[in-house]
Amino acid sequence: MTEDRRMAIYRITYSREFKRVSLYNWGCNFHCRGCSYGLMETRGQHNRFIGMKEIKEILLKLNPEKVHFLGGEPTTNPDLPELARFCHDELHAYTKIGHSNGSIMPPANIDAVSVSIKAHTNRIHIEYTGVSNNEVLKNFERMYERGIRMEASSVLIPQYIDCDEIEKIAKFIANIDPTIPYHIVGYVPVPNAPWRSARQEEVEYAARIASKYLSNVTFSCLTPEKLRDLRAVDSRFKSAVVA
Ligand code: SF4
Repeated sequence: MTEDRRMAIYRITYSREFKRVSLYNWGCNFHCRGCSYGLMETRGQHNRFIGMKEIKEILLKLNPEKVHFLGGEPTTNPDLPELARFCHDELHAYTKIGHSNGSIMPPANIDAVSVSIKAHTNRIHIEYTGVSNNEVLKNFERMYERGIRMEASSVLIPQYIDCDEIEKIAKFIANIDPTIPYHIVGYVPVPNAPWRSARQEEVEYAARIASKYLSNVTFSCLTPEKLRDLRAVDSRFKSAVVA
């Protein structure tokens, strides 16, 4: 994603099956060289931003049990504190930041956060994202200590962010709590990046290494086609666009 100071919600979807609304935020404060958001169905496109009043009306009408904030980077949205408060106080909904780079602490009224830890070695993190991971690692621990339900994920990029980095990340998470769920995603090539895609057996092997430290490790290895339409491979992503 590219930085955009208007950072705002540009799409809202609803999953009837999971009684879940997902709010998609435009913009990110990182510049990951392997960012796949541009590859995903409809995600780099938006015609307009949706105002707070309209978002609240939609939420009240749908009355979801869960509200997920997705990105880009949801914590860069200045409306996030009020949206999270509204979801808690008025909807009594469970709130989750479904994808965060961890660089900014979430506001109050966020129940769960999934942090994508790009690399444990700071030099690699800076090279890959343009930003140091000092705050990311500190914030991960702070969020856990605040009582937020934590999850983590990383992208395995062969010969770059490979098993040695995954092992360091797994050890870091395990030092906080070895039961925190950790998901490893096989890299899918994006334009102008030098790396090849991760193979299934490579991701599986990385997951076995992470499992030495963590009790809840999962992995996925998607083709570019499947990544473009996650709804076809995972029912959790089946939802209707409502705005
Ligand atoms: S943090 Fe996520 S959304 Fe932001 S640039 Fe990196 S991969 Fe893309």
